[in-house]
Amino acid sequence: MNNLETKTQKINQSEENFNLEEIKEIYHKPLIELIHQAAEVHRNHFDPKAIQLCSLLSIKTGGCPENCSYCSQSAHHKTSLKPEDLKSMDEVLDMAKNAKQNGASRFCMGAAWRQVKDNDDFDSVLEMIRNIRKENLESCVSLGMVTEEQALKLKEAGLTSYNHNLDTGSKYYDKVVTTRTYEDRLHTLKNIQKAGIKVCCGAIIGMGESDEDRVEFIYTISNLEQPPESIPVNALVPIKGTGLENQNPVLIWDVIRMIAALRIFLPTSIVRLSAGRANFSHAEQALCFLAGANSIFLGDKLLTTPNIAETDDHDMLKILGISGDKAVSLNQ
Ligand code: SF4
Repeated sequence: MNNLETKTQKINQSEENFNLEEIKEIYHKPLIELIHQAAEVHRNHFDPKAIQLCSLLSIKTGGCPENCSYCSQSAHHKTSLKPEDLKSMDEVLDMAKNAKQNGASRFCMGAAWRQVKDNDDFDSVLEMIRNIRKENLESCVSLGMVTEEQALKLKEAGLTSYNHNLDTGSKYYDKVVTTRTYEDRLHTLKNIQKAGIKVCCGAIIGMGESDEDRVEFIYTISNLEQPPESIPVNALVPIKGTGLENQNPVLIWDVIRMIAALRIFLPTSIVRLSAGRANFSHAEQALCFLAGANSIFLGDKLLTTPNIAETDDHDMLKILGISGDKAVSLNQ
């Protein structure tokens, strides 16, 4: 075993961080080796027979002033999406209860805003969070940039986690979005963590980024003062009218490699197999679970992109012998 392998075996038992070269070396291992290593790390930190089921609802859709080139909700793109105002409390609560009935233990809500504003809509979202928590569900929101004061209000409302994706490495970021910077993103992540809220911060694969950009993403999140507790891995779903409508389909091997590398370098985080999953077979998803993914989103829609029918997911989990109760950490 070389020094780097010894170091990754000991990950999380020490304060050591990994540099870009070290992450690159592991990331580029032969895939079969990488999956094996990730599976070992996964078993050291989680019950591999359990994953967390979540549900993600768009509570305010479209008309977003940001220009993220993959997103159907950006006002900069001409897509077929119909913008919608903030959903009502009753509608959201019904969806949350329904998600819980179908096995979800976490209910996530996304609003197509550039940033949170201190207005009635924010107050409504705070109330939604309070009500979702009363249902004994974890609650996560994705509302754009937040100040420290707003993050504290979210914390007071009982929010479990805040989603704010970095999407890719910093060098590629301005190829994806130009209406905000990587630094803006990192600043919001800091505000969330200062308020004591868990961070959900993920990536999108298939936007034209290189392996180097993916490695840089892993490097950035694994070197945050507190690494994110939750990491969604998304495979781009090209949407007509967006800047990335002509991207090639994402190969499952790229998704598995990313999941495995994240599992190795962020061994205690929940790695969520997220958007684009509808394109992958049960067997392909099984490899993702083997490589360390331990969460999926239920429901036929993921914000605005197609997802998988719940019955199909329950069938898959039954075949694999995986329980959807919760991702169980062995270290808590
Ligand atoms: S990804 Fe979020 S911030 Fe970017 S355009 Fe879509 S809704 Fe707006």
